[in-house]
Amino acid sequence: MMAQNRIYLSPPHLTNKAQEYVAEAIQSNWIAPVGPFVDRFENALRSYTNVPGVLALNSGTSAIHLALMLANVSADDEVLCSTFTFAASAFPILYQKAKPVFIECEENTWNICPNTLEDAIRNRLNAGKKPKALILAHCYGNPSDMPSILEICTKYEIEVIEDAAEALGSTLNSRPMGTWANLGIYSFNGNKIITCSSGGALICKDSILAQKAKKIASQSKEPTVHFEHHSEGHNFLLSNILSAIGVSQFEVLNNRVEMRVQNFIKYKNFFEQIAGVRWQIELPGAKSNRWLSAFAFGANSNISSSYLLNELAAQNIESRPLWKPLHTQQAFSGCPYFGNHFSEVLFENGICLPSGGSSATDVVPVLSNLL
Ligand SMILES: *Cc1c(COP(=O)(O)O)cnc(C)c1O
Repeated sequence: MMAQNRIYLSPPHLTNKAQEYVAEAIQSNWIAPVGPFVDRFENALRSYTNVPGVLALNSGTSAIHLALMLANVSADDEVLCSTFTFAASAFPILYQKAKPVFIECEENTWNICPNTLEDAIRNRLNAGKKPKALILAHCYGNPSDMPSILEICTKYEIEVIEDAAEALGSTLNSRPMGTWANLGIYSFNGNKIITCSSGGALICKDSILAQKAKKIASQSKEPTVHFEHHSEGHNFLLSNILSAIGVSQFEVLNNRVEMRVQNFIKYKNFFEQIAGVRWQIELPGAKSNRWLSAFAFGANSNISSSYLLNELAAQNIESRPLWKPLHTQQAFSGCPYFGNHFSEVLFENGICLPSGGSSATDVVPVLSNLL
């Protein structure tokens, strides 16, 4: 039997305030990437992160691109990057004509493995190529081992960019993800835990660098009456209308985190009864927002992820395989890779289940019929 309404993987979840604030933005005629809602949105981010240097941007991808420019990444530089993540973590490395070096994830968190990271850094140093920066993602919202990663990167003087696109609302030792490194980014794309429909943000601890970021993101205009530009600029700022949606979403961030965590717990309680199923483990002191509920099936579980994907699709339920590791993607062919290939096993055997709203309440009974 076909479920009546399609259940999506990670649908946007707006409140009535979104319409109200967007109407207000339109009535006020603040339409461009400047205006009261941009200020309110940045203030919400400032108080959430406790970092003064925040910049609302038109996407998370732009935010990573901007962070790379602030880290002075340029042509032929090497940039270390998580392999088990969405391609947008690494595409901006290519925009800067630099070279990604992919690092495998660890088996508990599914985030970048600190030991493999240090091996890779040593290898590149021996080859006479000092990596310029590291981009690490908190996969599906689960906090990475930031203390270890920052210790390693401080030791080797490598700039860290925290891709917290999926991890808004996640914390480690009560500190928000996206605020551990000097540079952090968020995404407010339609599929993220809260959304502007499309949008992103840069979190920058160095206030001088934050001013530089704002200048680059607004076409590198010099403060003259005529249009004077001394360096390359970009059009990266977020419009006041989309910021209005973002303001309405920030009001319900805690609730959206709670809903996603509850979905994960329902799925986990179900899969705990089946041997050989694994999921992301939170480090001690970590709280994941469980942006996506993700599971992987071992050989002794007798579950095939492709069977589950197809059966759920037949019941009008959207699910997805786990990330295909970036080091196996044609777009990144020829890039160096360090690790034990664990993420390839995750990709072959894993699935992301519907994670928005109260979807697990509807999906768990379907799973228990199928398995
Ligand atoms: C969504 C996402 C991005 C890109 O964000 P956009 O706002 O869609 O440009 C980058 N990194 C990760 C890990 C993401 O999930």
